[in-house]
Amino acid sequence: MKILVINSGSSSLKYQLRQMPEARVLLNAAVERIGLEDSRLTLQWRDAAGDSRHRTREAPVADHRAALAQVDAALREAGMEPAVDAADIIAHRVVHGGESFQGPVLIDDQVMAAIRATCRLAPLHNPANLAGIELCREAFARVPQVAVFDTAFHYSLPPQAYRYAVPADWFHQHGVRRYGFHGMSHASVLRQTAAYLNRPPASFNLISLHLGNGASAAAIRAGRCVDTSMGLTPLEGLVMGTRSGDIDPAILFHMAREADLELPQLEAALNRQSGLKGLCGSNDVREIQRSATTGDAAARLALEIYCYRIKKYVGAYTAVLGKVDVLAFTAGVGENSASVRAQVCGSLESLGIVLDQKKNDSDATDVREIQSARVKILVVPADEAGEIARQAFACVSATTTV
Ligand code: AMP
Repeated sequence: MKILVINSGSSSLKYQLRQMPEARVLLNAAVERIGLEDSRLTLQWRDAAGDSRHRTREAPVADHRAALAQVDAALREAGMEPAVDAADIIAHRVVHGGESFQGPVLIDDQVMAAIRATCRLAPLHNPANLAGIELCREAFARVPQVAVFDTAFHYSLPPQAYRYAVPADWFHQHGVRRYGFHGMSHASVLRQTAAYLNRPPASFNLISLHLGNGASAAAIRAGRCVDTSMGLTPLEGLVMGTRSGDIDPAILFHMAREADLELPQLEAALNRQSGLKGLCGSNDVREIQRSATTGDAAARLALEIYCYRIKKYVGAYTAVLGKVDVLAFTAGVGENSASVRAQVCGSLESLGIVLDQKKNDSDATDVREIQSARVKILVVPADEAGEIARQAFACVSATTTV
């Protein structure tokens, strides 16, 4: 069985074809900067001899429908069958499932209505996810389609972790609570950690750090998430590429009064002009590290603030879990930056967290351990699309005989 995993963002369409049940990648395609003059299509696949091939093309792509057609055309040119024709199931990533979804679901009209209702909670993400689903349901009606939610992994949060101390009506009438995001990534880290340790998820406690352009931490006790750093939206928690993470909410009132800023400006400032970019002008950690080594003080401070915030969450989640067995780093920065890992883990000996410097500096790409004390410190390759494929496969296998 083959599953096509679709991640439809506001200006991008990413998709992967996976061979199940092992979730082997057959094809990887992305169209970015949709709607702009310099849209870019990239395609990677393995040919019949098993060699890796790839192709890129820069040309305007007007919308998501055109993006799907472009990928098909590129595949045909490469002598391959369009991925959708090969797919037995289409799995869609949906960022926000609100309180309605605690796991993957087969999409029908009722599910579409429920996802539509969550758009008010995630106006920056869900409408684009929904548009991708609508497009695929219309174009490929014969293929079962599954929605997999980033919030679902955090459904197990207890009320003391998910409620905010704000007027109770905000929760009851307006859905104001912590939902958490990056669920596919944290679930994948949990799955890969259990496989690596050869132990069931229920037998260990884990702090998972997803450090990419977006960033979040999750405290996972015996296989269930009990706290996470992102909140009602992905804005809360760690310092990110362009998002502020935690701030005093009164900063918004102050800036509205001081600089006469309106709500959309405040929303844009915290989502797109803050985080590392706000601190030092770049959201690319590699570039910031280069600048820091050449004496750029703003870049150095930005990295210090970034790592300090992560360290605070590691401390907080150690207190939440009581005992930590594994600290895992994943995503672009978590997997690749030995110096960020070293800065985060520095002076945490009293928690049993100590890095082995030589292992930390290795550039192996499989799951690997890099500690020299009690708490295992793992570097885990991010595999959100693989997790989506596995969850969709399990969902369809449980509900039908495909
Ligand atoms: P992601 O969102 O997971 O693709 O991660 C993107 C972030 O990872 C960017 O800030 C990149 O600069 C960062 N990144 C990727 N490779 C490295 C590396 N070798 N060292 C430091 N940061 C990296």
